[in-house]
Amino acid sequence: MIVILKSNPNPNQLESLKNWIHGKGINIHESTGDSHQILGLVGDTSKLDMDLISALDIVEDVKRVQEPYKNANRKFHPEDTIVNVLNKTKIGGKNLTLIAGPCSVETEKQMIEVAHAVKAAGATVLRGGAFKPRTSPYAFQGLGKEGLRLLMLASRESGLPIVTEIMEISQLPLFDDVDIIQVGARNMQNFNLLKELGSQKKPILLKRGMSATYEEWLMSAEYLMSEGCEDVILCERGIRTFETYTRNTLDLAAIPVLKKLSHFPVVIDPSHATGKADLVEPLAMAAVAAGADGLMIEVHNDPAHALCDGKQSITPEVFAKIAKKTLSLKAYLNSEEA
Ligand code: PEP
Ligand code: MN
Repeated sequence: MIVILKSNPNPNQLESLKNWIHGKGINIHESTGDSHQILGLVGDTSKLDMDLISALDIVEDVKRVQEPYKNANRKFHPEDTIVNVLNKTKIGGKNLTLIAGPCSVETEKQMIEVAHAVKAAGATVLRGGAFKPRTSPYAFQGLGKEGLRLLMLASRESGLPIVTEIMEISQLPLFDDVDIIQVGARNMQNFNLLKELGSQKKPILLKRGMSATYEEWLMSAEYLMSEGCEDVILCERGIRTFETYTRNTLDLAAIPVLKKLSHFPVVIDPSHATGKADLVEPLAMAAVAAGADGLMIEVHNDPAHALCDGKQSITPEVFAKIAKKTLSLKAYLNSEEA
């Protein structure tokens, strides 16, 4: 971080700024030019509040030369994070993890049928929403606690670990038996929720906010990690653009960029990214080609009658075809790299 001082700074104020910086364990390299004096801060500046320094009378400007996230940064954590889910499946590394299931949990029959079908096709994690963040307050809001019960039943029957979305801190006690907790796009910057989730032990699937930058997304991951959470999975689910044909626009560049900037596994959700069942396959293939560590796909046994997101849901038969193609593409890419 570089602090540019105003000309002729008040010496007492400058002394106290320097003492404060030293007190944070950071060294200062000073350089004095014709018109300005510059302080180069050397050390871990990720915990320094830039705005606080900018607001000082003697400070002209503050610039970061390093990313504001540390725990999430690949520079400080060169190894890939590989999330081990109950010793049943690993997310990250050379794996392609298929996460599949309906948008929302509706009935026992639906959950059991879908769970068995996606498992047979190669999925290793079952998804299903019990608490649904819906744009309209009149739309189906999910079955809540009963939905979690059905999801767990399907998990026991199929042996698949589960991922499901939490919407607020007060729901956390209900999530004791959930294997991966999802933070949805709408809650990516719910910082109180992130802090609470960061201090518990479960892996977190953190979806990208609809108009969040990579840095904002990684800062949300930093919130989780700063509380002790190590198992973060990033999920790109499409962003808001001017295009209206698709529900969102899938940002494929997010895969290589996030794998460069951070050490987390990156999962792609082609269902929410497009909103259209027939676009799931081509974008799933593209995501794997671009290096995705996993895919999260909405699968319904009867998409036409789904209570939520039926248009983007595929049948178990279509899922089986996509699973086969994406898993063989991943195997081919791994063999080319070996
Ligand atoms: C979901 O996965 O069911 C969901 C609501 O996704 P998003 O937060 O990406 O809209
Ligand atoms: Mn959905």
